[in-house]
Amino acid sequence: MQAQYSKVDDKVINELAGVVGEKNVRTELHQRAIRAAVPVPFPLHKWEQHVPDVVVLPGSTEEVAEVLKIANKYRIPVVPRAGGTGLNDGAVPLRKGILLDIKRLDQVLEIDDVNMTVTIQTGINNQELSRTLKRYGFWWPFDPASFPVSIVGGNIGTGAWSLISGISGHIPDLVISMTVVLPTGKIIEVGESGARKIRKSSTGYRLKDLFIGHQGTLGVVTEATLEMFPRPEAEFPAFFAYDSFEKAWKNLGDMTRSFLRTMAAAVLFDEEKIDYLRRDDEAYIPLPKNVRSVIATCFYGTEAEVSAASKVLFKIVKEGGGVYLGEELSEGDWASRHDRYHLALHGRSPKGEVMPSSWHCEDAAVLYSELPEVRRKWHALVKEYREKYGIFDDCGMFMYNNNPFKPWGDFLTEIDIFVAEMELDEEKWRAFVELKRKISEVTLEHNGSITACHGATRPGDAELIPVELKNGMYELMKLIKKSLDPNNIMNPGKFGLDVAYTEEVRL
Ligand SMILES: Cc1cc2nc3c(=O)[nH]c(=O)nc-3n(C[C@H](O)[C@H](O)[C@H](O)COP(=O)(O)OP(=O)(O)OC[C@H]3O[C@@H](n4cnc5c(N)ncnc54)[C@H](O)[C@@H]3O)c2cc1C
Repeated sequence: MQAQYSKVDDKVINELAGVVGEKNVRTELHQRAIRAAVPVPFPLHKWEQHVPDVVVLPGSTEEVAEVLKIANKYRIPVVPRAGGTGLNDGAVPLRKGILLDIKRLDQVLEIDDVNMTVTIQTGINNQELSRTLKRYGFWWPFDPASFPVSIVGGNIGTGAWSLISGISGHIPDLVISMTVVLPTGKIIEVGESGARKIRKSSTGYRLKDLFIGHQGTLGVVTEATLEMFPRPEAEFPAFFAYDSFEKAWKNLGDMTRSFLRTMAAAVLFDEEKIDYLRRDDEAYIPLPKNVRSVIATCFYGTEAEVSAASKVLFKIVKEGGGVYLGEELSEGDWASRHDRYHLALHGRSPKGEVMPSSWHCEDAAVLYSELPEVRRKWHALVKEYREKYGIFDDCGMFMYNNNPFKPWGDFLTEIDIFVAEMELDEEKWRAFVELKRKISEVTLEHNGSITACHGATRPGDAELIPVELKNGMYELMKLIKKSLDPNNIMNPGKFGLDVAYTEEVRL
């Protein structure tokens, strides 16, 4: 049984306007409808079910707190939304209610160039933050493919992943402390310690992590103190070609275990990915015919460090049968890493016809040892569904180093599936969800995690949370959710946590 929520009526609208001002309370259909959608295969036939009742744009932490007090008093669902680029529906309002758009909270509050921190409001966009720090000679060393379009609050909401994690980690490693508004409207601060800029402490529980990757289910993060890096002297992208996936995979292992401290990124493109890049005009990389797989690397550090590392790298590649693709291709392709996803016309039906499509990006975390077998099974599944339904296309796989401050271990393993979104009726939507679930089941069979960064908040993943988080973890999540959010107002329905309110939860 779902919780009973109140309707957003004129009385509520007036109270909200009293807090944020009339112009920051938006009830027009287009303002609401656009904030229900996400840039991934979206069930258009169900769009109406997700349109929020009202959009609220707060301008301060205190305003967020007052909005949550109103929502808690009347029992109205609240869904925080930042850039709306989340790929697993985190910001989609499953139970309607208030859509809290945080984009007005976009200020840099302090740059501390002595202790190397930057304090921001969480509505700031990554590219903007990066440009601001650059003016002062510093670096925001967070590099998701959605860099120009995603927003720090959303990155915190998903526990986002960075392409250059080998040297600077991911969002959980880059956030030092945060201001959080709890579902009851109480404002708290959480960090490694009670002191805003301390990076390591043992005074209490490590509560900071609770508020990273919670997908807005535990409150709203309004301010954050982040790591700020010096600008690196050298950036060295180097791409290598192989005549088979197996050779590239073996060499990826040698490279990433070589303990090159300046190795920020190591990405393997499999054979299907190369076929897709060759086939597609806009994403075309002019690769020689015998190239079947590619490894892209990038190094950051001082000139001396990077130059020494490149010598070791080239030796490893030579021994592993790889060939350097040259400066122009490596630098050009690395530079374009944030603008790869203009995909509307890139899918192909089984007959080879172009199909207007949207993009599903599976983001499992898979151990290095399991990559070949997971790859084989994932491609086989997509082939089966592609042939049966005609609306899916397999655009190959990437395997990215996934670990903070070291490139070895497990890999963010991505299969890109194009889906003819306009063709999705209920039957085909269910087929998509089933395919996604089967892909995630393969990940679990191989001791992986079903999502490295996007979040298990979409059908096809959400049902598998209790399977992955067995042995008490999911039960603990339910207890935490219920104690921080007694009325289940924060992003209800996500992570399947509604059950915390309908069944007895015990550890
Ligand atoms: C082209 C493309 C490339 C991508 N590449 C990457 C990548 O490399 N790495 C990666 O990790 N992801 C990637 N993504 C996915 C997406 O960009 C990330 O998940 C990102 O962190 C979402 O940020 P957002 O600002 O769009 O947040 P939204 O989608 O708006 O929100 C994400 C979640 O956070 C919650 N939330 C938002 N703001 C707050 C807040 N202030 N407090 C609490 N909760 C909040 C929302 O309710 C939602 O659950 C990519 C997406 C696209 C479209």
